[in-house]
Amino acid sequence: MTDVEQKESGDVRYNEYVERLRHEEYPMLEGSIYLDHAGTTPYPKSLMDLFAKDMTANLFGNPHSASSSSQLSTSRIEDTRLRVLQWFKADPAEFDLIFVANATAGIKLVVEALRAVPGGFDYVYHQASHTSLVGVRQEARSSTCFDEPDIKDLFEKPRTADHTLIAYPAQSNMDGRRLPLSWSHQFRQSWPTSRGNVYTILDAAALAATSPLDLSDSTVAPDFTVISFYKIFGFPDLGGLIVRRQAEPVFDARRYFGGGTVDMVVCRKEQWHVPKRQFLHERLEDGTLPVHSIVALDLAMNVHRSLFGSMDRVAAHTYYLVERLDRGLRHLRHGNGTRVCTIYSPDRTGHDGSPGAGPVVAFNLRNQYGAWVSLAEFEKLATLKNFHVRTGGVCNPGGIASALDLEPWEMKQNFSSGFRCGTDNDIMAGKPTGIVRASLGAMSTVADVDQFIAFVDEFYREAAPAPILQQPVRHAPATSTDLYVERIIVYPIKSCGGYRIPAGTEWEVRPEGLAWDREWCLLHRGSGQALSQKRHPKMALLRPDLDFERGELRVSFAGVLPPDTAKEISVPLSNNPAMFEHSNRHRPLPSRVCGDEIFAQTYTCDAVNDFFSGVLGVPCVLARFPPGGQGPSMRHSKAHLQKHQMLHKPLNVSLPGSYPAPPSPPDSDTENPQRRILLSNESPILAINLSSLAALNKEIVAKGGQEVPPAVFRANVVVGSKSSASEWAAPYAEDNWSTLRIGQQNFKMLGSCRRCHMVSIDQDTAEKSEEPFVTLSKTRRFDGKVFFGSHMGHAPSSSGGRETQYPTIKVGDMVQPDAGEDEA
Ligand SMILES: *Cc1c(COP(=O)(O)O)cnc(C)c1O
Repeated sequence: MTDVEQKESGDVRYNEYVERLRHEEYPMLEGSIYLDHAGTTPYPKSLMDLFAKDMTANLFGNPHSASSSSQLSTSRIEDTRLRVLQWFKADPAEFDLIFVANATAGIKLVVEALRAVPGGFDYVYHQASHTSLVGVRQEARSSTCFDEPDIKDLFEKPRTADHTLIAYPAQSNMDGRRLPLSWSHQFRQSWPTSRGNVYTILDAAALAATSPLDLSDSTVAPDFTVISFYKIFGFPDLGGLIVRRQAEPVFDARRYFGGGTVDMVVCRKEQWHVPKRQFLHERLEDGTLPVHSIVALDLAMNVHRSLFGSMDRVAAHTYYLVERLDRGLRHLRHGNGTRVCTIYSPDRTGHDGSPGAGPVVAFNLRNQYGAWVSLAEFEKLATLKNFHVRTGGVCNPGGIASALDLEPWEMKQNFSSGFRCGTDNDIMAGKPTGIVRASLGAMSTVADVDQFIAFVDEFYREAAPAPILQQPVRHAPATSTDLYVERIIVYPIKSCGGYRIPAGTEWEVRPEGLAWDREWCLLHRGSGQALSQKRHPKMALLRPDLDFERGELRVSFAGVLPPDTAKEISVPLSNNPAMFEHSNRHRPLPSRVCGDEIFAQTYTCDAVNDFFSGVLGVPCVLARFPPGGQGPSMRHSKAHLQKHQMLHKPLNVSLPGSYPAPPSPPDSDTENPQRRILLSNESPILAINLSSLAALNKEIVAKGGQEVPPAVFRANVVVGSKSSASEWAAPYAEDNWSTLRIGQQNFKMLGSCRRCHMVSIDQDTAEKSEEPFVTLSKTRRFDGKVFFGSHMGHAPSSSGGRETQYPTIKVGDMVQPDAGEDEA
């Protein structure tokens, strides 16, 4: 069977054809499973090759002049404009196409015109609208958000303007739900003349990516249609606004003109100009067109046709795949029979007479007791396994609120309790605040779908009831254990390498943590965000050395140094104000560490900042956050006991299937609500237990993996046990410790440490791997979150001895859990 035949044959054959295509055309996808076509779609190699060839063979000048290069641009642009209209079966006599940066820019162009019409406009938008449509309401006299059942009411609402714009997506970017294309016509037909003019805008950005869009009947077509070409072809980054010529007069009110959209302008003594008149696109395409992108779009249409055949074929293929994905996810059940996935995408068959849904599955995961799995946690694991999916609010506020049944007050409350787009805080008051979105495209295959289902099955389906957590072993206050401090490490610069405290050195313990731990950080020059190893693994290779003889922090880089880069830099340990940016010259920029806004002192020395920027390849500055600050120069611990640790505490006992309310908000360490920290993520001190690590390594090795060293957990205090057979060496005993005595000092345990895939960065080489995060996700996941290690803070005693004035710990100190003394 030839490719051409296969391309036109049934689902299975076509899929085989696409599988083959994948290797030749999408080398960048090697090793990845791409399920974010609703975000953007990958571009084929042959498009890139053709584009390079076209660019090197031809010179494209700025249009509108007589040179041959300019003429070439003009003719290619006009040809492409026509071909795009033909792609959507839009007759150029009835429609015009305006090239814009993206679908959003197309929407804004319509708004720019309507806000200038005398008396303004009323706005009506469907609740499944993308954020870019929702924002239009800010320009309107009044706005209404509707869903199908409300349609009749729209005709009765009091109007405030002579013009009304009605907006809706052809397909929701959130769950793939489709809305009837016939609405545009219906609205125009049934709009009472007493209500003034009505215009419709169809957001086809999501629909057009995998389906044909047919505008051949201009009497029923929307007045305005917006498209994102990159969602169809992957390249170029370009959008389109298709205007039905009958609606053109709306743009007469547009006031702005720019280069390209005007025939003559008089400036000095008179303010006079003549806008271009002939074609709408000439009046709206301000400035130089993205000539090269438009040329690429021409090629993209050719390549797409030759690789995938018609859009009908793409629609059939993606429909076949999404059915399989939807069915596969729906069928996953926990051992106790409950569903793993809660799916929000509607019935896509259209059997109920609705237009069905596109190749998108929106869902959330639940554990066997019905508790939601954190999206951030899901995303970490999916990323590690090379799945590309989107999670969160996906720019569709109305769709999300309706799917998740979130009331406006709940969303506002979530906002005030710290929820923001794109943060880790995604289960609030027992409800998810976003979704997982898996979306398919022309080059998706059955293998992508099956691998994704297998991944959810492997990591989120609980075949057996959850393992019973170890019952806490309550020791009588002990005088001697065989637990000891195996090593102590501080991380002077947040997210960079550690400094191991030499044996025999007594190290100071402060309320904020161990002395010199996380007192510095690197801030992105542009955003002020503290850099993290999660995004910049090379930070692990920045090796700090605390030299108390010379009074400096020296930092070297254990990777390949870029040319002309110093081998190491140093800054004084003393806090010399001359080193820092002065607040009277510039207001210090607020920076962000783990979501907290802080004021850190930034170093001005170029040699220092260039060193860090050079080795990491990120524009950054060194900053210091010394102890003792006030206001935004101070941070507080966020650690708290986790649910899996509270099983032995009197809990408001919950029924099976229900979960207790989420733990009281962070900072709920009742004994010391204002426990200060420097730049560590959550708490003053992080401890790990080598017995737990040994247990984890056993699991990793059993699955054929390599043992991981303690360093990946970036703990401050590593607790060892002299004999692995001793009663003290039980793995994860630390979950149940409430206090710890180390040498002469007491510590209060503040809860388990939540982990992300940063633990999979080798601290010696900065290389990423799957372990230990993958095994941790399987063996140490509670309530959708992954834990390893314990937070703790110093609990000063009042005995009055030297150890209270200058508390220290050292390597080799005996460690006693729950010794009883000073326990609150
Ligand atoms: C992607 C998308 C948009 C936004 O498109 P841009 O090209 O980013 O402006 C708007 N609406 C829908 C339905 C989309 O899928």
